[in-house]
Order: sequence, then C-alpha cells, then structure tokens
Amino acid sequence: MSDTIHKVVIIGSGPAGWTAAIYAARAQLEPVVYVGVPKQNPGPVLPGGQLMLTTDVENYPGFPDSVGGPEMMAKFQKQAERFGTKLVGRDIVSVDFSKSPKELTTDKGDVVKAHAVIIATGATANWMGLENELRLAQTGGGVSACAVCDGALPIFRDQPLAVVGGGDTAMEEATYLTKFASKVYVIHRRDQLRASKVMQERFLSQPNAEVLWNKVVTNVIGDEKITGVALEDTKTGDTSTLDVTGLFVAIGHTPATGFIRESGLEFDDAGYLDLKSRSSETTIEGVFAAGDVADAHYRQAITAAGMGCQAALDAEHWLGSQGLA
Ligand code: NAP
Repeated sequence: MSDTIHKVVIIGSGPAGWTAAIYAARAQLEPVVYVGVPKQNPGPVLPGGQLMLTTDVENYPGFPDSVGGPEMMAKFQKQAERFGTKLVGRDIVSVDFSKSPKELTTDKGDVVKAHAVIIATGATANWMGLENELRLAQTGGGVSACAVCDGALPIFRDQPLAVVGGGDTAMEEATYLTKFASKVYVIHRRDQLRASKVMQERFLSQPNAEVLWNKVVTNVIGDEKITGVALEDTKTGDTSTLDVTGLFVAIGHTPATGFIRESGLEFDDAGYLDLKSRSSETTIEGVFAAGDVADAHYRQAITAAGMGCQAALDAEHWLGSQGLA
C-alpha cells in the first residue's frame, strides 16, 4: 500500500471524469484519474466511455461541424493533463469508504488512499442475454448494441436489419440505420412505444421502417454471422422467424456501480447512484458522483460534463471545509 494520500481520486474517464479532472486540477487538488482497462462486458467497454463507440457528436456545443467521439475524449484528456492531472490505466474494483482517508483497490490489488472520491464510471448497454446474441456480438457476427458505432459498416449496407427496444435510443438507432439498410424492423415487446413522439415520427416516416409489435426475440440465428431472429408474440404466443443480417439491441443501460455496491452508498431502483438534490454529493461524505452513473434521465455528454464540473467544485468545497485542501 502506498503512503500517498491523494486529495481527490476520480474513477472514470468519460466527459464527467475529465471535466471533474480539469476543474480539480485548476483548483490545485492534483487529481488522479483511474481511466479503466479495456474489456468486453459483454460488449466493448473502453477508457473514455461510451463516446469511444460513437462516430459524430453533433450536439456538443463548441463543435459546429461535429466531432468524433474518440477525438472529443482525447481533447478532454489533453485539457485535463495540461493542468497536471495524473492518469492511471487501471480499474478500481472495490472501495472502503468507512476509512479515513478512503481506500480504493485496483484490479492489480494496489490500495489507493484519497480524502475525496468522484465516481464517474458511466453506464453500459444492456443485452437480452441470449447465448447467440452475446457470442455474435463478441465475434463481429452482425450483433451490436450501438448502431451509431457499427451501423455504417459495409456488412449492413442494403440489408434487412432489426433493432430491439421501444425507447428513444431504439428510435434514434433505427432511424440512423434507415439511411443504409434496405429495411429496418423495430422489434418491441408491447403495443406502444416508450419513445417520445418526435423520435417515433422520425423513424416511422421513413419508407423502409416497420415496427413489429408485441414481439420478443427468443433466439438469434446464425453460426458466424446472424441470418435471422426467432420471435414470439407476447399476446398470442405465436412463433415466427425474421430474416435479418444485423441486430441492434437498444434496451437501455446499466450503471457501472458493481464495485461500490457494498460501500454503504445509496442507489435508486435501477441501480443509479442517489444524489442529494441539485448536488453531486452522495450519501457518504467526501464521495461525489457525476455523469451517467448517477443520471438515468439525461445521459448526454454535455450533462455528464456539467455534472463533472459540479462534482469537482463540491469536492473542492468539502476538502476546504475539512481543512484538507
Ligand atoms: P429506455 O427508455 O429505458 O427504453 C428501453 C426500451 O427497451 C423500452 O422500450 C423497453 O420496453 C425495452 N426493453 C427493456 N428491456 C427489454 C428486454 N429485456 N427485452 C426487450 N425489450 C426490452 O432506454 P433508452 O431508449 O436507452 O433511453 C434512456 C433515456 O435516454 C431516456 O430518458 C431517453 O429519453 C433518453 N434518450 C434520449 C435521446 C434523445 O432525446 N436524443 C436519445 C436516446 C435516449 P418497455 O417499453 O416495454 O419497457
């Protein structure tokens, strides 16, 4: 165990983590960012977060001609490093917030001490959990949880594709795919979409768009590449097969909070960190959160960055109040 006690450790390296680092570094808190280790879970999870799997970001102010997700994260990182932020390419796998200073354990077993901690670990895409779905997602067999990342690949051009889900993400992904695909089916388990009206309209107005209502995917068919999906009607129980050469799963996200489940922090029903109103403070003093890990609702790069700023300012204020800054 190192004797160094950091003023603030930031866990996570998406827009929330880097923005927290920029603010903390400029406040001379000498932040250390645990950027994470690349992994499959079961889809790709990368340092830099979900923007690393995004092509053009068109809604982040300051980039009038849009910017690539990875390029944007590289700029965030460079800006944080310019003010002295230190990076560590490891995961934090468990925490002990009952101690003072707080203790964090890395995937290599190293114990890191910090007075303040900012959790900015984001969220990852959900999967249906079907055996072939996960296998074909991992082997590039035409199954993905991110149409915006993968939809423009040549294997999906002029092909019949399916999107599972009925929320805004499903509509956004399906609409995007209509530009490349010969046909885009949205497979939804109910007879009503959850998505906002404007997003529904955007998809349904495309000539190659169709919603298959009251259907669940019971199997993904294909050896090396997907050739179709087996469907079951949730009302009648009827089964059918739909021929598609690409499947995009858009059924929500799960916050990356596994490593803090036993920490004494409080979570909402969906597993997102509970924050005090209009603050980044968690239910444990000196522990702050920012971005998708604590925000099931907005889940945007710009809101995550804003929360990262709040977390750094709140951490600075707290450290000052404890005489630790
Ligand atoms: P969501 O709103 O939670 O929708 C998830 C969808 O997946 C629901 O339709 C749900 O069905 C379905 N689903 C969940 N588990 C399933 C399963 N195991 N099998 C089949 N279907 C399943 O998630 P989201 O669409 O990712 O959106 C999350 C948040 O981000 C929302 O607040 C959304 O408004 C926001 N968002 C906004 C934009 C935008 O404005 N540009 C874009 C994307 C997301 P049920 O409807 O039956 O529950």
